[in-house]
Amino acid sequence: MKIAVLPGDGIGPEIVAQAVRVLKALGPQFDLEEAPVGGAAFDLSGHPLPPATLELAKKADAILFGAVGDWKYDTLARELRPEQAILGLRKHLELFANFRPAICYPELTAASSLKPEIIGGLDILIVRELNGDIYFGQPRGIRTSELPLFKGAREGFDTMHYSEPEVERIGRVAFEAARKRGKKVCSVDKANVLETSQLWREVMIRVSKEYPDVELSHMYVDNAAMQLVKAPKAFDVVVTGNLFGDILSDEAAMLTGSIGMLPSASLDKNNKGLYEPSHGSAPDIAGKGIANPLATILSAAMMLRYSLGMPAEADRIEKAVQKVLAQGLRTADIYTEGTQKVSTVQMGDAVVAALA
Ligand code: NAD
Repeated sequence: MKIAVLPGDGIGPEIVAQAVRVLKALGPQFDLEEAPVGGAAFDLSGHPLPPATLELAKKADAILFGAVGDWKYDTLARELRPEQAILGLRKHLELFANFRPAICYPELTAASSLKPEIIGGLDILIVRELNGDIYFGQPRGIRTSELPLFKGAREGFDTMHYSEPEVERIGRVAFEAARKRGKKVCSVDKANVLETSQLWREVMIRVSKEYPDVELSHMYVDNAAMQLVKAPKAFDVVVTGNLFGDILSDEAAMLTGSIGMLPSASLDKNNKGLYEPSHGSAPDIAGKGIANPLATILSAAMMLRYSLGMPAEADRIEKAVQKVLAQGLRTADIYTEGTQKVSTVQMGDAVVAALA
């Protein structure tokens, strides 16, 4: 099983190194090959996604990604910025389904800004469509307004659209995922205002007929944003488009209060995927040895489950993470009084030990 390892920038190399140790501790079956990406690749070769890195990602069975970005690249032309590497990988590998679990481990309930009874035991999955919607719709641009009231003024415009096959495929991904969990899908849209959402809802209802064992509900995005704060545990799987999913998945992640704990996956139609922590490259703490590697380690577990067909090994990693939390080990971001503060490497050591 070939895994492309793309550590990236900031804390990326530190946290990916720990996930790699965990994979190696599972056995010799992984062929891990590393390549530069993001700012690190730009520094080496003048491009955030060099052809050799893209080739490696294409031929691998799965990609383990750290994070990219640093303030020092902010003045580069947009196409050379580190973030373009992620967009390029999503586009070239047709990664259209983004999985963002939001889990609140019992030991970390205090890290959330919500009351323990509202957040404790949270385990929801946001499935976000990644390749379509207003982010990629044409036409788009800045032009001169023709609106009578603002005639002659500059106006920005974008186009939202989703075709039926695009909604069908993300719908199926969400229903399949729900089958392995709580068997509930909530489709989030804005069907009271947007034509795109009306079609989205119609298609979701049609797809749901193929999954009679899964309960489908619908919610407007504004209400979903409120319900995530009010009663997040009422959700199981949330499926939504690119724009709404971008916002709701970050909101759901922050509910748990521990961005350093949350993995993510972006899958293609054959379940090949890119796996990365939900957080960024954290340049403010890079090189200090204090970053939390658990989101990346849990991303490796998702990789085993969704792309490499190794659910038992995925369970082993997730149980090992729960064990180190139960032992009271915490990196600085999740540290509370009475627990034991550990470094990035010490956390990796503990997970490897807990695997045994
Ligand atoms: P960030 O997620 O990198 O950091 C936000 C805060 O969370 C920081 O205080 C950071 O120290 C902390 N943090 C993040 N991950 C942590 C971890 N594993 N352990 C402990 N603390 C952690 O977001 P940001 O500061 O807005 O962005 C920094 C850079 O990351 C920017 O260049 C941005 O473009 C990039 N970014 C990249 C990705 C990605 O690679 N997918 C995603 C988001 C942001």
